[in-house]
Amino acid sequence: MNEPNAVKQQYGEIASILVDSGFLTPEKLKYAARIQEKLSAPKPIIEVLKELKYITEEQIKTSIRKNRLNMRIGSLFVELGYIKEENLQAAFDIQKESKTKKKIGEILIEQNYISDKKLTEVLSLQLGFDYIEPEFMEIDLHLFSKAPSKWFETYHFIPIQKEENGILIAFSDPLDPKDIEGAKEVFGENIIPAIALKESIVNTIQKIQKGAKTRRSIEMDADSIIGLTNTIIMSAVEEGASDIHIEPMIDRLRIRFRKDGVLIHYKDHSPEIAQAITSRLKIMCKADIAERRRHQGGRIFFDHGGEQLDLRVSFYATIHGEKIVMRLLNRQGQLLELHKIGMYPRMLERFREEALNRPSGVVIITGPTGSGKTSTVYSCISYLNSPQVSIITAEEPVEYIIDGIAQCSINPKINLTFEETLRHIVRQDPDIIVIGEIRDNYSADVAVHAALTGHKVLTTFHTEDSIGGLVRLLSMDIEAFLISSTVVCVVAQRLLRKICPNCEQQHRPSPKELQRLGYVAKDILGGNFKKGRGCAICRHTGYLGRIGVFELLILDEIVRNSILERKTSHEIRATSIESSNLITLFEDGIVKAASGVTTIDEVLRTLPCLQKPRSLSTLRRLVGV
Ligand SMILES: [Zn+2]
Repeated sequence: MNEPNAVKQQYGEIASILVDSGFLTPEKLKYAARIQEKLSAPKPIIEVLKELKYITEEQIKTSIRKNRLNMRIGSLFVELGYIKEENLQAAFDIQKESKTKKKIGEILIEQNYISDKKLTEVLSLQLGFDYIEPEFMEIDLHLFSKAPSKWFETYHFIPIQKEENGILIAFSDPLDPKDIEGAKEVFGENIIPAIALKESIVNTIQKIQKGAKTRRSIEMDADSIIGLTNTIIMSAVEEGASDIHIEPMIDRLRIRFRKDGVLIHYKDHSPEIAQAITSRLKIMCKADIAERRRHQGGRIFFDHGGEQLDLRVSFYATIHGEKIVMRLLNRQGQLLELHKIGMYPRMLERFREEALNRPSGVVIITGPTGSGKTSTVYSCISYLNSPQVSIITAEEPVEYIIDGIAQCSINPKINLTFEETLRHIVRQDPDIIVIGEIRDNYSADVAVHAALTGHKVLTTFHTEDSIGGLVRLLSMDIEAFLISSTVVCVVAQRLLRKICPNCEQQHRPSPKELQRLGYVAKDILGGNFKKGRGCAICRHTGYLGRIGVFELLILDEIVRNSILERKTSHEIRATSIESSNLITLFEDGIVKAASGVTTIDEVLRTLPCLQKPRSLSTLRRLVGV
């Protein structure tokens, strides 16, 4: 008699009811469990059963619905593979500690273990109600007029339409007897409850009240699409995201944000509204609405609470429709003062005194895409900006607008090319010239010659490290003596993720980590390494925000001579480290990891290690901490 309970304990509730309902034999279940044990990546037993084709999605649904009153929501999530067992345990712990008895579902949402949308979806699966989105459905206004909207708000529901067997009504909680009664009072016994997000119900009620919905279909309602599009952009700004990805997929429209260099999931929408959102964005950036099969680009200027936002938009034609990526430019809040970009005191002082404060010469910031080099250029501009100097830029595009300087956005579409702009730039009598990027011989030549004629030039380059930048310049058909006499410094840079201060804890480097760093235990004496455990604030990544890591190569006498002697990059590096106190990117990263700012993982993942780093105590002395 005890057998069903034994099955439940060993394999979970869903497996147990599948056996009970006769969809699955105990033998097949046991076999699937043996397979599950052998998997290298853990998978819920339900997934394994599905892959073995022992059961179908439909059978799972049927069984759960038949037993819906006996299911517990938490274990359902775990068994379906939406959350991990330990997440559920953590939620139970929080529930125990909290004074107000919160529902386990609410806690899971608060802790970011699951999105509210996913929760509602699973609830609908568990309870057997259809999940609907009233905002994007056609609402029968005749039904809506049968009660004051206050009534709908009080009982958390909204009538959708008449169906064959009754009236379809969306509830945020269709198991709440009070709410059901509230609906029955108006619409009688024949109601068909469905489940919807509370937010979606409230929004729809408000929109109808405002009279925005006198048209039959809400899906075509321009106001709600405009609102939705604006909400996406504003949420991204509030999250501090750098990019917004809007991706059409077979069954949904997925929206993700890039934050601190990593994509995070924001929301899913029903695929039906993809076209409307795409069209709306095309209108906003003046792209061709009719064209859906070719890639397009554009720019949106958007007012967000008084702050002018600037977005660069790209439409990319995929097999499921157009994928849209918007990059948020010109976020003034992100512009850092020079002493806050993450350079250690000694390096910062050299960078100012021996590079930026020199009357003329080329300063190059180099690194791959996304390494933060553009932000550093802006921090330098901001440092140099004053009423006594004239600063002029040629950028593609302008990413931050800085007061008091003349910025030009390159626009090849109207033939405002880089070449054309650089030809005019020196005639503008500037003191400081900012060339967005050295991309070819021509721009390199302009930079060097502007410096020769007494200008200060700031520019970026796309190379791995600082020596690599020099070597690339040397290969660009420019005389070595011109480079050695004009380039004053090359800064290589990367961004590393910072440890979340809310969940950081001490970390003792493992022997394996030490080995990968090129160290033995005594080399890191005095280090204070940390790691983030993961919490709701950092979305369980253990990281929050980013910090710059730098390699500053000052072209002093010794380095200049090595260039003139056409030394190899290996030789130039060795000389710079020995005689010019060059701290490599890898070494700067190690010092930051040893102060508990970032992790060893980040250092190993992001930074090139071209030679064995010096010991932590030596490095700390060199950088001045
Ligand atoms: Zn955290």
